[in-house]
Amino acid sequence: MTKLKQFLDDNIATYRATKQVPYVFAVLIPFHILAVYGLYLGYQSWDWMYAAWFVAGWVIFGGLGACVGLHRWVSHKSIEVRPFMRPIMHWIMVCSCQGSAIWWAALHRGYHHAHADNPERDIHTPKDGFWHAYMGWMLKVKHDTINLKYGIEYLKDKSMVWHHKHYNYVLWGTLAVMMAIDPMFAFWFFVIPTMFSLHSDSVVNSVCHFPGAGYRYYNTKDQSVNVPLVGWLAWGQGWHNNHHKSPRHFDFGTTVSGKWWEFDPCLLLVPFVSPWRETKRLWSQWYRAWRHNENATPVEIV
Ligand SMILES: [Zn+2]
Ligand SMILES: [Zn+2]
Repeated sequence: MTKLKQFLDDNIATYRATKQVPYVFAVLIPFHILAVYGLYLGYQSWDWMYAAWFVAGWVIFGGLGACVGLHRWVSHKSIEVRPFMRPIMHWIMVCSCQGSAIWWAALHRGYHHAHADNPERDIHTPKDGFWHAYMGWMLKVKHDTINLKYGIEYLKDKSMVWHHKHYNYVLWGTLAVMMAIDPMFAFWFFVIPTMFSLHSDSVVNSVCHFPGAGYRYYNTKDQSVNVPLVGWLAWGQGWHNNHHKSPRHFDFGTTVSGKWWEFDPCLLLVPFVSPWRETKRLWSQWYRAWRHNENATPVEIV
């Protein structure tokens, strides 16, 4: 009971400090309830159109929003995005349901990469337990857990700051518009794919830092491992030991390791957001690594 009271008190404090309903109550709980309800409705009267909407939503919000936008573009700056695509990406990143881009980048750079698997500083290391790394940490985050100074350059970007301050309005406004168009569209294009992607990224945070869950090529200071299924199905994020070795490479797979089968599907999304020369740059890096196969060999399993 005291734990529940502490949890509620922390969330009330977050609300007072940020003037926004905290993530757990604004996104995590309601979107999961809506996703389950949408799945139930789909089960009641299935239409293959729902599957097409799901794939489109998974590509746009999970692939472009979370994996390309939040992770590679904003956090690691490993891709150039066309100027006219930037505000669109700001909106897509909000709709990926993983918190504001400034917050995400600050957490990812200042706490995860800088202190990976150090339980004192890494917010979601499995050293604090598998469930904690999977999703439990989201319930424990307070308004002052993440110092936004690790995303300081974005505090000068008006669009990014606006999307940060109005996060819940943008997200729920988008949901309301989609619900008005067609509730099943809102469920299958937006709510279900974003919750699916949130869980696949939670698999990355937990399984891909779990000793023995995969293999390592590089002796990074953390426990990161490459997990092929997560690499192929979660937009390359599962080539995670490669990513901790070279966080500034856009491609987490072949470009780092030279292994052709460590393909990073995010490469397929580059032409949608980047100028042609950027697409050419990233794809030729991949091609060179593939041709010259650097033959990274697994090191010890931690
Ligand atoms: Zn990691
Ligand atoms: Zn990263």
